[in-house]
Amino acid sequence: MTLKERDKKHIWHPLTQHKLHPEALAITKAKNCILTDEDGKTYIDAIASWYTCMYGHCNPYITERVYQQMQQLDQVVFSGFTHEPAVKLSEALIEILPDNQEKLFFNDNGSTSVEIGIKMALQYHFNKGEKRNTLIAFQDGFHGDTFGAMSVSGLSVYNGPFEDLLLDVKRIPTPNGENHEEILAQLETIVTQHKVAGFIYEPLVQGAAAMKMHDKAGLELILQFCKKHNIITVADEVMTGFGKTGTYFASNQLNTKPDVMCLSKALSAGLLPMAITSCSQKIYDAFYSNDIAKGLFHGHTYSGNPLACTAALAGIELLTSKEIQDNISTIITSHKTFGKHIRQHHKVASIRQTGIIFALDLNIKMERYGNLRDKLFNFFMSKGVFLRPLGATIYILAPYTISKKELEKVYVTIEEALEIL
Ligand SMILES: *Cc1c(COP(=O)(O)O)cnc(C)c1O
Repeated sequence: MTLKERDKKHIWHPLTQHKLHPEALAITKAKNCILTDEDGKTYIDAIASWYTCMYGHCNPYITERVYQQMQQLDQVVFSGFTHEPAVKLSEALIEILPDNQEKLFFNDNGSTSVEIGIKMALQYHFNKGEKRNTLIAFQDGFHGDTFGAMSVSGLSVYNGPFEDLLLDVKRIPTPNGENHEEILAQLETIVTQHKVAGFIYEPLVQGAAAMKMHDKAGLELILQFCKKHNIITVADEVMTGFGKTGTYFASNQLNTKPDVMCLSKALSAGLLPMAITSCSQKIYDAFYSNDIAKGLFHGHTYSGNPLACTAALAGIELLTSKEIQDNISTIITSHKTFGKHIRQHHKVASIRQTGIIFALDLNIKMERYGNLRDKLFNFFMSKGVFLRPLGATIYILAPYTISKKELEKVYVTIEEALEIL
């Protein structure tokens, strides 16, 4: 029996309606940008396996370091204990995070990093003796699948059955360059009617909302409004972090720095699961007390796992290297050229780009997970390119190590796909 067949017996896959999509593709090998399936067919991983392995799969620089670490220290409780990989990672990460970030809270995945961000915002006010229970989020934001993260997310396919059980969240539109007055008016209304603890946002690019991109000045105004009202700002950089927007973090491109930041995905370079919620001194100080109950009583068993920390540290070394920074510039330029060309096509409604994130909207109505979208996905896979269109949006978010030839193949395949629609 093939892996594909054996898989069906016991495995329940994430985000999958098994009756409609019974088959999972079995991948046996990954090297740099190439995935190989059990039949030996290869695919260019043009979405970096959900924005994680930005330095390529099985990057020898990272795997060698983790292999060394494995023989030294594998795992230890992170409550009351510490170790070199976590300490070194904290120093390297603080070096590249926005200046105001001072403390790092280790955890396991993007959703939990958001849960902690939400808890920090809520408990910050609680510890200060103020009851503030409302959160603000973008209408079509996505922050993960645990209850707090679901509450602040706006995609009802995911949240539908749980809607009555979620936190109190008020939603605002994303800034598009024309609506900032409307958004500010909405914010004014929200703060007069509710006690707002925090605002959570994906800065500049919203991944799951089909790479929706923000008007920077509009986002800046929202953040300034929050600062003025002591609303804790939580930047969810789980997707945007670690170089994808052209700077180490999207928040580096904004003047108003977040109080809290959520990091995962590319943090540990696609090798091991890990997340970090970082915060400013102001947040940390609100929890620092002789009163034990003012602490942040949150912890995950594998927090600060030494192997994941080692992978993350090696990843940051690569990210800050001249070679990767040059690759990022090359991809940015290359996408711009492709964008100029493809936007002329009559089936392309619009294109947009932030850093190495490129997206194009088709001039065709499509359901997020409908048949046309499947047709497009299957076409890409048949051509050996792993792209995962979201509704009528095709996006590229390839590893920084993608070769010129591979990138060219991704572009050509997208252009060919327009012909089958
Ligand atoms: C993927 C993602 C999450 C959730 O991360 P998981 O590791 O899948 O739980 C949260 N926020 C954003 C912006 C993401 O892209």
